[in-house]
Amino acid sequence: RPLKLVVTGGAGYVGSVCAARLVEAGHDVTVVDDLSTGHADAVPEGARFVEGDAAEVSQTLLADGFDGVLHFAAKSLVGESMQDPGKYWHGNVLTSLRLLDAMRAHGTPRLVFSSTAATYGEPDVAPIPESAPTQPTNTYGATKLAIDHAIGTYARAHGLAAVSLRYFNVAGAHGRFGERHTTETHLIPIVLQVATGERGQVQIYGEDYPTDDGTAVRDYIHVTDLADAHLLALDHARAGEHRIYNLGNGTGFSVRQVIEACREVTGHPIPAAVGGRRAGDPAVLVAASDRAREELGWKPERTDLRDIVADAWRFTQDRRGTAAS
Ligand code: UDP
Repeated sequence: RPLKLVVTGGAGYVGSVCAARLVEAGHDVTVVDDLSTGHADAVPEGARFVEGDAAEVSQTLLADGFDGVLHFAAKSLVGESMQDPGKYWHGNVLTSLRLLDAMRAHGTPRLVFSSTAATYGEPDVAPIPESAPTQPTNTYGATKLAIDHAIGTYARAHGLAAVSLRYFNVAGAHGRFGERHTTETHLIPIVLQVATGERGQVQIYGEDYPTDDGTAVRDYIHVTDLADAHLLALDHARAGEHRIYNLGNGTGFSVRQVIEACREVTGHPIPAAVGGRRAGDPAVLVAASDRAREELGWKPERTDLRDIVADAWRFTQDRRGTAAS
């Protein structure tokens, strides 16, 4: 049955890919985005678009009777969250609480929330299961964890069917939907900017981590696989329950390995310089996603790092082609 859904943040990277997948699957999609970091032309064809703040718009919009909300709208820069925490407590926690209240007021039954591996902080286990202690090392992760806690209590008290998906490192692109941040902080798009000549070199943040080559290790997951988990989460959400699932491939790649994969894909030498560590960065973040596989039937299909990078590279080149023409 097609569902009538609100996608907050549907003009952003992960939100737009998910909105596109939902439209492809035949659902009725309304994107709400204030365009603070998203792009109006990233809203997929076939989705309605309401420009505005997720908390504000939901107060009236949800009165139309929706089956669920996928809540992507958020501030998501770790560095910025340390310098301007208020922006994250208000922009993430307060906005989400107001959205939860609007859902409750209008009887919206389902919620899928974008949580993050940053809720775990610096874990001493790898791979990380959902049962690992949550001790975020940055304000961004702390705000997402606070929202997860709030969702759990609303689900139990008010019968909301809720799922939090904890993303590891999302990368790649889905057709014309990909990563286009004005302030780019993520490793793969930065490295690809070196390949296009927009940037002279990539800075490696720390080579003194307790890993094989001394650089930090992350679990990179293709954005299409990530989006597909949201569709499964919608199907599996149950009234009164809040489920939490990690989404990653379960394989770690070091910063140096990522740069090497980008060299292979682009054929560019990609100069790299070693600098100091970035504040708040854990050494190793790799997901145990067994729970998503077992309970949601999720199976990531684009797990090869080179394929992930190749999709991001194709997207980068397409966009440059479009911008030049
Ligand atoms: N990183 C780096 N140079 C950069 C950007 C990132 O060495 O210009 C490293 C960063 O320290 C981390 C990894 O690459 O270990 C992935 O960082 P990203 O910001 O992409 O994702 P995060 O893991 O912070 O969510």
